[in-house]
Amino acid sequence: MLTVPAYAATSATEPLTPTTVERRDVGPHDVLIEIQYVGICHSDIHNVRSEWGPASYPVVPGHEVAGVVAEIGPEVTRYAVGDRVGVGCMVNSCRECAPCLRGEEQYCLEGNTLTYGSVDKDGTLTQGGYSTHIVVNDDFVVRIPEALPLDEAAPLLCAGITTYSPLRRWGAGPGKEVAVVGLGGVGHMAVKIAHALGAQVTVLSQSLKKKDDGLRLGADHYFATSAPATFEQLVGAFDLIVNTVSARVDLDSYLRLLKPGGVLISVGAPAESLSLDVLSLVMHGHICAGSLIGGIRETQEMLDFCGEHGIGAEVEIIPATKINEAFERVIASDVRYRFVIDTLTLV
Ligand code: NAP
Ligand code: ZN
Ligand code: ZN
Repeated sequence: MLTVPAYAATSATEPLTPTTVERRDVGPHDVLIEIQYVGICHSDIHNVRSEWGPASYPVVPGHEVAGVVAEIGPEVTRYAVGDRVGVGCMVNSCRECAPCLRGEEQYCLEGNTLTYGSVDKDGTLTQGGYSTHIVVNDDFVVRIPEALPLDEAAPLLCAGITTYSPLRRWGAGPGKEVAVVGLGGVGHMAVKIAHALGAQVTVLSQSLKKKDDGLRLGADHYFATSAPATFEQLVGAFDLIVNTVSARVDLDSYLRLLKPGGVLISVGAPAESLSLDVLSLVMHGHICAGSLIGGIRETQEMLDFCGEHGIGAEVEIIPATKINEAFERVIASDVRYRFVIDTLTLV
C-alpha cells in the first residue's frame, strides 16, 4: 500500500482540500503511474457537487491523467518503467458483456469501474487523478505518443476521446459541415479533431469573445448564439452538431440547424432533462444522439491520431492550490481551454 498526496472534496458544498489516498500494492497486471498532469473536466465539478446524484465522499476527482510508469506487475508486458502513459474515465469493466467485447467498455452492462467514485473489485472506493500516483490494471492504461507533451495530452483522455468517438461514428470528414456548440474544454477538442478529420467546422458560442481563438483552433466559421439572427441564418446548414454545453440548452433551436437526416450529438451532460419536439424530428428525419467518452481501443486510436496530427489541448497549467478557483472559472465559461494541474505541486 502506498499513501500519496491528493486533493479531495469532502462534501458537495465545501472547497477541495489537501489529503492523502491509499493506492493498492501493484498486482500482477497492474501499472503504478507517477502522475505528472491531470486535467480539470466539467464532469469533475458535476460529480463533486453531487449534481448527477449523491457522490460518495471524500471524492478525489480527476480522469484526465498523464504520467510515467513507475512500476509494473510481473504479468505486464505492454508497458515498461519510464513509458509515457495515460488513464481516462475508466479503470475496469466486466470484459465479458457484448459492449465490452466490442470495445465499448464505457457501456459495460455490469457497470464499469470509473476512475473515481466507483466501488472497485476489492470493495474500496476508487480515487482519481488529483493525486501524485495511481495504480491501474494495464488493460485500462493507454500509451501517449512521443509527439505530444504530457500536459497537452492529459485532456485528450476525456475531452479528446469524448469528441473523437462521435465525430468518427457519425462520419465527420471532408464535405461534412460540423457545428460545435460551446467552446470549452470538450468543445475546443471537437473543433481541433473535426478540423483534422477534414470537416468544415463552425463554432456556436454564447458570444464572439473567443472568435479569434476558435478560428485559430481550426474553425472555419464562428457565430454567437446570443444573436437571434444566428438561428435564422444557419437553418439547415449542418450534417452534424456536437453539443458540448454543460448547462440546459434549447435542443429544438439546434435541431432546426441540421440538414434533413442530420445528427445532433449531445456530449454535454447537464443534470436537468431537456425537451424535444419529436414531430419536428420525425418530419426532417433528424437523429438526436448521445455519446459517452469512448472505449479503450478507440482511446488509443484517438491518441495515435492526435500524435500524428500534432493535436494537444490548449492548457492553462495551475498549481493544486488553484483548483477551487479553476472550478469557479470553468463554471463561468472562463477557461482557455482546459485547466491542467501540475501534480508536483501536490507534494
Ligand atoms: P466547459 O469547459 O465548462 O465547457 C462548456 C462550454 O459550454 C462553456 O465553455 C460554454 O461555451 C458553454 N456553456 C456553459 N454554460 C452555458 C450556458 N448556460 N448556455 C450556453 N452555453 C453554455 O466544460 P467541459 O469540460 O467541456 O464539459 C462540457 C460538458 O460535457 C459537461 O456537462 C461535462 O460533464 C460533459 N462531458 C461529457 C462527456 C461524455 O463522455 N459525454 C465527457 C466529458 C465531459 P461558450 O463560452 O463557448 O458558450
Ligand atoms: Zn471528463
Ligand atoms: Zn462489460
